[in-house]
Amino acid sequence: MTTTPHYVIIGSGSAGFGAAKTLRTGDADCRITMVTMDSLPFYNRYNLPQVFHGRHDWRDLMDVPPAQYAELGIELRRRSRVVDVDGAQRFVSLAHQEHVAYDRLLVCAGGRGYLPENLTEYFGLMHGFGSFEAAMRLHKDLPKGGTAIMIGGDMTGIDLAMTLLETGYNVTLITTSQTFWPHRVTTQERDRLLAALEAAGMKVLKDTRAVGVSRENSGKPAACVTLEDGTEVRGDVVMPFCGLASSVEFMLRADVDIERGLLVTPELHTSNETIWAAGDVCQIWHDQEKAYKFFHGWKNVRVMGELAARNMLGANEIFDVNIEDRIDVDADGKISSTFWIH
Ligand SMILES: Cc1cc2nc3c(=O)[nH]c(=O)nc-3n(C[C@H](O)[C@H](O)[C@H](O)COP(=O)(O)OP(=O)(O)OC[C@H]3O[C@@H](n4cnc5c(N)ncnc54)[C@H](O)[C@@H]3O)c2cc1C
Repeated sequence: MTTTPHYVIIGSGSAGFGAAKTLRTGDADCRITMVTMDSLPFYNRYNLPQVFHGRHDWRDLMDVPPAQYAELGIELRRRSRVVDVDGAQRFVSLAHQEHVAYDRLLVCAGGRGYLPENLTEYFGLMHGFGSFEAAMRLHKDLPKGGTAIMIGGDMTGIDLAMTLLETGYNVTLITTSQTFWPHRVTTQERDRLLAALEAAGMKVLKDTRAVGVSRENSGKPAACVTLEDGTEVRGDVVMPFCGLASSVEFMLRADVDIERGLLVTPELHTSNETIWAAGDVCQIWHDQEKAYKFFHGWKNVRVMGELAARNMLGANEIFDVNIEDRIDVDADGKISSTFWIH
């Protein structure tokens, strides 16, 4: 007797959504369940800076109409947090005690903002920007013409910073070793890129370190960063943009290899026979460099999600790790990056 396979996908971002559509295209009858902590269906996170251009209705950010999930036969479980995966018994445990059994599992859990260790105690005081809700909170808390203090300045932060400058706000950037992440730049390149940001109107504080974050009154957002020499930098909101830490904590009992992300073969298969991973959560084996590497960014993660899904259905494709990685200052003095697609 044959039974319909049940594919469970953790995460509803670009990788997860691309995978779900691909699974449906490849198998009209299979059961697909997508579990996500998000409250909204899939949307392009890189469009979030658009809230500063007046896009305040969440429906404007949707990549596909919510009705499409039902049309595609994808069961979307929103606001559901996976807390554990039993890789031997093949079930996923949700925070509200429910177990979801799977035949094949795809993990597309992405990552969350990394914070330097000395700043973790201030996490709750700062603004994030990883979701529509966080973007709207920032828009509400940053007064017109106000100042955002950014710690780090990874490429998502720089993207937001450019939008803020264009729309009449001020940005003070306190650099860290994650500035321009995920690009790795030489000291010379870094100086040139920082000069381009200053020319665009950003105030850049380099050769220093943020050691504390504080607010004037409880209930108000953080508005002050203390530097290691005791100087206080004041603004209206404080935002860390220091790269990503993969969301892997719920995979510790799943019987898969983990370093900083889930370790996968170029076919995106983990060390567990029934588990694959795609997107920002995984590190892919790079045979030439003999190392597992992250391939962050929109274009890569969508390709990964679709490829993993085809392999779960029985294909044997490999992810092409020869990705162009370039950041530069163009003829108009603007930063261009292969990370940005716009
Ligand atoms: C503001 C911003 C701007 C960006 N700009 C660009 C850009 O210009 N160009 C570019 O290439 N990339 C950009 N990115 C990065 C790009 O959005 C990411 O690379 C991409 O979203 C990663 O996709 P993903 O599917 O791997 O993970 P994500 O999109 O991060 O999705 C992860 C999913 O996993 C879910 N999840 C995590 N943990 C759990 C759990 N325990 N239980 C249940 N669900 C869980 C989350 O709820 C979410 O649905 C930007 C990102 C941001 C935030």
